Amino acid sequence: MIAKVEPLTTARALRGPFDYLLTGRMTGVGVGSLLLVPFGRQRLRGVVVALTETSELPAERLAEPIAVLGEPVSQSLVDLGLWVARQYVSTPARGLELVLEPGGGRGVGARTELRATITEAGRSALGGSERLGPKQVAALERLEASAGPVAAGADRDAMRRLGARGLVELVDAEVSRRPEVVAVGARGARPELTPAQAAAVKRIKAGLDGSGGELLLHGVTGSGKTEVYLTATEAALERGRGVIVLVPEIGLTPQTVSRFEARFGDGVAVLHSALSAGERRDEWMRLRRGEARVCVGPRSAAFAPVEGLGLIVVDEEHDSSYKQESDPRYDARDVARRRAHTEQAMLVFGTATPRPESWERLERVELRERADGSPMPGIEVVDMRERDGREGPFHARTREALARLAVTGGKAIVMVPRRGWSPFLDCRVCGHSWSCPNCDVSLVLHRAGDVMRCHHCGHTEGVPEQCTECGSASIARHGAGSEQVADIVTELVEPVPVFRLDSDSATRKGAHARILAEFDRAPTGVLIGTQMVAKGHDFGDVVLSVVVDADSSLRFPDFRAEERTFALVSQLAGRSGRGGSGRVLVQTLAPAADAIVSAADHDAPGFLAGELERRRELAYPPFATLLRIEMSAKDGRDAEGAALEVAARLRPLLPRGATLLGPAPRFRLRDRERRQLLVKAGDRAAAIAAVREAVEGAVAAKAMRGVQVSVDVDPQ
Ligand code: ADP
Ligand code: ZN
Ligand code: ZN
Repeated sequence: MIAKVEPLTTARALRGPFDYLLTGRMTGVGVGSLLLVPFGRQRLRGVVVALTETSELPAERLAEPIAVLGEPVSQSLVDLGLWVARQYVSTPARGLELVLEPGGGRGVGARTELRATITEAGRSALGGSERLGPKQVAALERLEASAGPVAAGADRDAMRRLGARGLVELVDAEVSRRPEVVAVGARGARPELTPAQAAAVKRIKAGLDGSGGELLLHGVTGSGKTEVYLTATEAALERGRGVIVLVPEIGLTPQTVSRFEARFGDGVAVLHSALSAGERRDEWMRLRRGEARVCVGPRSAAFAPVEGLGLIVVDEEHDSSYKQESDPRYDARDVARRRAHTEQAMLVFGTATPRPESWERLERVELRERADGSPMPGIEVVDMRERDGREGPFHARTREALARLAVTGGKAIVMVPRRGWSPFLDCRVCGHSWSCPNCDVSLVLHRAGDVMRCHHCGHTEGVPEQCTECGSASIARHGAGSEQVADIVTELVEPVPVFRLDSDSATRKGAHARILAEFDRAPTGVLIGTQMVAKGHDFGDVVLSVVVDADSSLRFPDFRAEERTFALVSQLAGRSGRGGSGRVLVQTLAPAADAIVSAADHDAPGFLAGELERRRELAYPPFATLLRIEMSAKDGRDAEGAALEVAARLRPLLPRGATLLGPAPRFRLRDRERRQLLVKAGDRAAAIAAVREAVEGAVAAKAMRGVQVSVDVDPQ
């Protein structure tokens, strides 16, 4: 038997798979097995992607694998990994790494504990047949009192001695390291579904009983989408099928996780990157063995080893965290589609603010009202043009609304576009500004730690006391980040506590969830932070939400700017007024912008209709596919040369009607100069194939020395 093995190496130029001879010595090797194989003078890990009877090479030239590593994965996951590699113009190794056991067979083992059971001889020893020390008596009594095996724990030494005398039976049992879940507002109760929820569940069940399908669950914030997911999950489990629930980010959605755990207990496995290596491996293994049939996790959970998949839920489907921003730059929403399609599972995209792509393409099920019957909060657009810039980040109206909190009680959420204290410093005399030496972006002043920091590469330097160019001591600080806004609000609302949520305030594992839990428990408080505060938390008593600068996302030079702004404003507004009255203030310099007006009117259908019209005219997604190819190098000339080479190869390969833009410079990042090519094409598959061929051709022709190339299909 021949195993076709894809070696797990990052070299783009390597062309697998390679044949290895399986002899009787190595048993149980199949598609999906992870092997250690000899490769030239090295040893590499590799995945079996196919088994065949014959090889093009003579048997005596074939090497044998050295060992089997770790747990095999299913054929369908191998296929999915290879699909990702092709679809996102990456390498088979990178695609396959996504589906393998966490740790990929590199030394994360099972944890075991010593467990003891009393034997017949042990019982008679307790009856006086043998001499026992006091510790041994205590240990045996503990075992006798228990029906089954008992963890040896602190009695480990005594147990071992008893074991040696045959008085107890000892086993090393595997125990799962379960991650700790911070419960945020988990409600175990099972409400009776509203008619709209019941209709949504009925539609999903039809898919479960048929051959799957796709669906957009468009429900306003608080309409009870999560309850629909929970009931649909029960329906899938009743039918013997497994479930994957994708959430934007575990740390920011502890509530959804808690609600699944409250409903399904140990039947749920949680997979994400903040787990320890051991926890991750054990959760993965519980899914692999079918001990847990429901997986909740962020984008990587799209690859979870759930067998007999019946349902995939993508919660908050509009969230850009579903896109991986390093190679392979996969989109978990498309991976989920692929997987649902091949496994005939039902796929549900849920959100209050659908992507234009989903709105255009998918069957819709609507939840038009909040589950608790409360009205949507009133949204006031606050025109910042009528205001003097020296008054700080808040309009007078916003300041008053915040200050009232100290009197009225309740909670408020404030969303600020940037973290840090001041995003921009310059010299009042000569105009010099401070930017990162490695990246062409400005440094952000952080008062905590008293440093200037680059938000792209992490470079830090001291805060300047005088201008490095002209020596002037007059340095202006522009703009207010979350750190400064939190300071201002603290003074405004005293003694109401202020909670800050951004990636500076929460660097340690689980810190986000803890801050959210504290805010949830506090009788009154203000939650201040970056876009993180707009994600799907459900707090009962938020009476005020503030968007400090709604234009920051609108100013982004990107065709998704409107979509993103609409989602951010609507999502933040949706945190307000659950179970009662709520007020939302949206500060903006562009009060007439479509995205802002539609969000203020709670008019997702209106916004989407206009946005789709605009995209159709400009031939943007979903009416075309975009691909971005980025070349980066220490020296700009190398990046430019590589970009020209790829462009020259690509032009004749592109499908009819496709356009190629560039090479165009992108800002320098981490001390690398960058050039990009942009492809816009109607024929998605043909465009991807053309880009793959052009990039691989350029690599093979050694035109990419010292140049990193990355391809982004559907850049966000
Ligand atoms: P969404 O996910 O759409 O934002 P949730 O599922 O979080 O909405 O529901 C919002 C709130 O309404 C939650 O507190 C939830 O427990 C409650 N809820 C959901 N469905 C019902 C129902 N059928 N009856 C009463 N309360 C419900
Ligand atoms: Zn100066
Ligand atoms: Zn930098």
